[in-house]
Amino acid sequence: MFQKILIANRGEIALRVLRAAKELGIQTVAVHSTADADAMHVRLADESVCIGPPPSRDSYLNIHQIVAACEITGADAVHPGYGFLSENAKFADILAAHNITFIGPSGDHIRIMGDKIEAKRTAKRLGIPVVPGSEGAVSDEKEAKRVAAEIGYPVIIKASAGGGGRGMKVALTEADLEIALATARTEAGAAFGDDAVYIEKYLQKPRHIEVQIFGDGAGKGVHLGERDCSLQRRHQKVWEEANSPALNSEERSRIGDICANAVANLGYSGAGTIEFLYENGEFYFIEMNTRLQVEHTITEAITGIDLVHEQIRVASGGGLSIKQSDIRFQGHAIECRINAEDPRTFAPSPGTITHFHTPGGLGIRVDSGVYSGYRIPPYYDSLIGKLIVHGRNRVECMMRLRRALDEFVVDGINTTLPLFRDLVGNPDIANGDYDIHWLEKYLAKSE
Ligand code: ADP
Repeated sequence: MFQKILIANRGEIALRVLRAAKELGIQTVAVHSTADADAMHVRLADESVCIGPPPSRDSYLNIHQIVAACEITGADAVHPGYGFLSENAKFADILAAHNITFIGPSGDHIRIMGDKIEAKRTAKRLGIPVVPGSEGAVSDEKEAKRVAAEIGYPVIIKASAGGGGRGMKVALTEADLEIALATARTEAGAAFGDDAVYIEKYLQKPRHIEVQIFGDGAGKGVHLGERDCSLQRRHQKVWEEANSPALNSEERSRIGDICANAVANLGYSGAGTIEFLYENGEFYFIEMNTRLQVEHTITEAITGIDLVHEQIRVASGGGLSIKQSDIRFQGHAIECRINAEDPRTFAPSPGTITHFHTPGGLGIRVDSGVYSGYRIPPYYDSLIGKLIVHGRNRVECMMRLRRALDEFVVDGINTTLPLFRDLVGNPDIANGDYDIHWLEKYLAKSE
């Protein structure tokens, strides 16, 4: 087991990892920018190192500073959290070259899944269902037209190097294809320095369903069920549920087993998420995230398994503590992402939190790094906390969520709490009847 873990992140996820390490009796090192000197993860860690000025590129993304912090403190492993360097293959390689364990998969697996065309090709080879589309990048309009005619309109053109929902264009008919192709190419070139694009069938009312997997790096893989993250705004997840209100247990085990076998065959090590669009009973792979996700907490709620303990165990060579037959799904869980944002326009709302009071009681978990009097720096992501609610079934979970949202007080800044108070009373949400466009339409209607 590791002696000392350096946590290369900030905010609630740094605290989340720190808690897991402490439970396992492992020393912790926090790193922070000058803007985060008063942050909770810094206060609670055994040691802390300032790694630079506020902008992320000079601190949380500064690989040299982080490796130096490991050497100064004698940390033997790094947990990257999510975001920042968590899917940076070069970072994983550099740590390995310094004999420091990266708590995550190999640099090569990160690299494969970071390239969308390569990821899709690999998924297909491993038996994962993918969206019908071009085999790799399309070279010209003629090829694009041929592929689109084959799979049928509407189609979506996506950047091979894409991310964050950028560089995607929909063509409803062949008449739109020429312009869509040209704009997607130009946007991809400008955003990613690579204008390679590929074509997929455009699904009209899909849900976003993702499967949590774990590999031991030595040929074993398990799945921990799925999460439904269809409630999104600008491709950002807002509300997540486990299990999905749309799947039955046969579908759950079918897609789960496919994913578990795929990661076993890949020799994948650690936690990962395989993301799908789901429509009319079919799953279509969109991407794999090779890290812990923000919404891992709802999987923890319904399985009772601490995913960060498991990540640390696997990375330290201790293997998985769980077999597929040990994993049981109990009840229902929902996570609401509390952002420091205007609940309607989503404009960031940094400032000082004058009062912070979290809900409690059975089935309630709040993961947050903030406190009364905390000043939110303007440099980073606006997530200030996550409310995770568990109940024996979805109805009980929703009742408890409504009550918990009423108890939650954040004064001094705007947050997304009022949006959740609206959503929890909405009949479509109560029925679990929504697709990936539902939230945007709802927000447009209530403007
Ligand atoms: P990124 O890596 O840029 O986030 P993804 O491939 O994960 O790109 O897709 C982001 C989002 O775009 C999906 O969650 C979905 O809303 C939409 N999308 C992607 N591919 C399709 C498709 N084939 N049909 C319909 N919507 C799609």
